[in-house]
Amino acid sequence: MTERQSTDILFKPKILVVDDEKVIREGCREVLTLEGFEVVLAENGELGLKMIEEVHFDVVLLDLMMPGISGFDVLSHIKALHPDTTIIVITGYATIEHSIEAMKNGAFDFIPKPFSPAQLRVVVSKAIEHTGALKDIANEKSRMRILINLIANGVMVTDAEKNLVLANPAFMKIIGFKGNDIIGRPFTELVQQEQLRQMVDHAFTISESEINEITEELEIKKSGEDATATYVARCRPFRDRIGRNLGTITVLSDITYLKDINQRQSDFVSMVAHEIRSPMNSVMAQIKVVQDGLAGDVTQKQSEILGRASEKISGLVTLSSELLDMASREAGLIALERNECDMTEVIKDQVDFHRPKAEEKGIQLKLEPLPDLPPVLVNKQNMEEVLSNLITNAINYTPGKGKITVSARPEKHHLCISVSDTGLGIPEEELGRIFDRFYRVKNEKTRYIIGTGLGLSIVKSIVEAHDGMIQVESKPGHGSSFYVYIPFVTS
Ligand code: ADP
Repeated sequence: MTERQSTDILFKPKILVVDDEKVIREGCREVLTLEGFEVVLAENGELGLKMIEEVHFDVVLLDLMMPGISGFDVLSHIKALHPDTTIIVITGYATIEHSIEAMKNGAFDFIPKPFSPAQLRVVVSKAIEHTGALKDIANEKSRMRILINLIANGVMVTDAEKNLVLANPAFMKIIGFKGNDIIGRPFTELVQQEQLRQMVDHAFTISESEINEITEELEIKKSGEDATATYVARCRPFRDRIGRNLGTITVLSDITYLKDINQRQSDFVSMVAHEIRSPMNSVMAQIKVVQDGLAGDVTQKQSEILGRASEKISGLVTLSSELLDMASREAGLIALERNECDMTEVIKDQVDFHRPKAEEKGIQLKLEPLPDLPPVLVNKQNMEEVLSNLITNAINYTPGKGKITVSARPEKHHLCISVSDTGLGIPEEELGRIFDRFYRVKNEKTRYIIGTGLGLSIVKSIVEAHDGMIQVESKPGHGSSFYVYIPFVTS
């Protein structure tokens, strides 16, 4: 049995008959009770009103012409108090105009006196059907409302005029709003946070072909406290079938605890990396002392072993430096000091710096002639780090006799720097992951290449901190090209 069927059986409709004529009242009761309805009678408008104030009736049969308070007054009271009660007007001497007037005021149907039991049954059963439908809608709506009110995320909906349609208690709490009756008013009366206002404004302007959601991180002060909480705000427009904007929906999710975990993780990584780096450096220095013969003669064999040990330790020093770099970047500790910079020199220096290492491996490292490059606003050291990482990767993942080409060119509003190699390449399915922290492509060819999997994630975070982006193209067995885009200084 479906849910609908079972509620139908349990549902015993309540009917109120308001009529000053006893025979009509009693007649209705007799017929409708036999139909299985619960029937209550009122002999005038006053009594009828009293009853509807106390009880909800599914259907009211209402005489329009009664001494005392008129049927029309009763009708408007019922509509105000119980909008989903279905009203049937009973018309006697009243004209058809009255019936029409009553229908306009919200009556569902009318039945002229005198009527037969069969006529009454038909009109009432139509009304009951209508009530059922209304109930379903009301249930559906209230279920939705309860759900939305219960969820911990803040939800706000505006219409196309940017007036509030809905704001759940969580939303009110997050933005610290304490008033009432805000529905229907401009959303700016509720939302004071500039960033949030801008998001909603922005959501109205995005066209259907663009992104369908704006996501931003917001810091909102907790009400009555000095502390702030961090939220992810998502705002999206919703449209009808022909693409007209009907409004926006904004959802706020608290991510303070995630931020906190992230911070602790970064602190821990920094601490460990820091503690490792110093002793490693000193071990390296001591190995060098022995290798250089300052602690006595060293055989060729011993020197080779010490060389390999030193290489491994140097790898660990690099790992700890990269971990530190990543941790401080994540914790936002690197306040980027940026200056207008002509990248020509930076690129040339990096290529020259890495050339010996490339040549040692039999790789040709070439810088294409650079055109005049407009300046970019960057942290120079960061840019060196980006280039150094990309060129080092190209050297590491390109076998001997290969070729690496570095070039730079203006592209619309960006400076595009590329580092291309003829090396191992990256399988297509791995391309999406190589910028993840600690991610390394694992196969026969990369197995013996030492690395941490951090370089590209650092490169990406630097580039993004400069409002730029990084792209990669690669074909296994043929090589890879990395493209870094940094916006030009706009005047
Ligand atoms: P690492 O080089 O220390 O492993 P990265 O984050 O710099 O870490 O790179 C991640 C992975 O991407 C590497 O392990 C490698 O598999 C792949 N990769 C990066 N650059 C290249 C390249 N130029 N050619 C081929 N594979 C590359």
